[in-house]
Amino acid sequence: MLEAINLSKTYNTAIALHSLNLYIPAGEIFCLLGANGAGKTTTINLFMGFTEPTIGEVLVGGINVAQKPHEIKKLIAYIPENVMLYPTLTGLENLAYLSGLSGTAYSDAELVVFLQRAGLQKEAMKRRVGEYSKGMRQKVGIAIALAKHAKALFLDEPTSGLDPLASNEFSRLIRGLADTEGVAVLMATHDLFRAKEVGDRIGIMNAGHLASVVKAGDVSPSRLEELYMETILQKHAQREAA
Ligand code: ATP
Repeated sequence: MLEAINLSKTYNTAIALHSLNLYIPAGEIFCLLGANGAGKTTTINLFMGFTEPTIGEVLVGGINVAQKPHEIKKLIAYIPENVMLYPTLTGLENLAYLSGLSGTAYSDAELVVFLQRAGLQKEAMKRRVGEYSKGMRQKVGIAIALAKHAKALFLDEPTSGLDPLASNEFSRLIRGLADTEGVAVLMATHDLFRAKEVGDRIGIMNAGHLASVVKAGDVSPSRLEELYMETILQKHAQREAA
């Protein structure tokens, strides 16, 4: 579903992403870990067509993102750390408006079902989003992905600032999207524990390189932490040698 082929991105002279080759099939959750500036957001931005590759190709559902950016937008959904919604509209109104922009007019009853599946309490749906917690706004983000029937979902530090209960619930919802809807998920996070909980595979980035990829089920939390630290320390060693 998601494919990066020899993908590189350079800003002026700085290499933000170096020769990434990655395939994420439908129904897989791939978590990207890495220190600040490692290239996680750049990778997501390239997949979403927010920025163009310097070298290489990005494909979503076999479609080249740079060649057909409008077609790609119909297939993908994005949940950043802070989901941007209209604060004076209710959750229901936001979903009606934003799913309408994607070309589908749903009835209120259908919208309520999407919001329910995303875990939003019924009483909250008719409250203004300006009164919502971060976790509730993210649930509206999930409902938008459901209403769009998105084939791929991009998450950039989605659990940052969520309490453990909300973070856990969020992870379950994402797992559900992958399992029941076959959505391919690419999630950038600093939360090693969450990556191991929700991810099928975990990639660790170091200075623009995807330095290692492991199956979440194959590593213990402590081994994952070790691997992460080894990768980051490698970066410091490289810097000092330069
Ligand atoms: P964080 O965990 O802090 O979000 P990240 O892993 O997402 O970091 P990126 O945001 O992808 O890292 O940044 C990778 C590198 O590319 C960094 O050195 C960053 O300064 C650089 N970079 C990213 N966007 C731009 C831009 N628009 N212009 C110039 N440099 C950029």
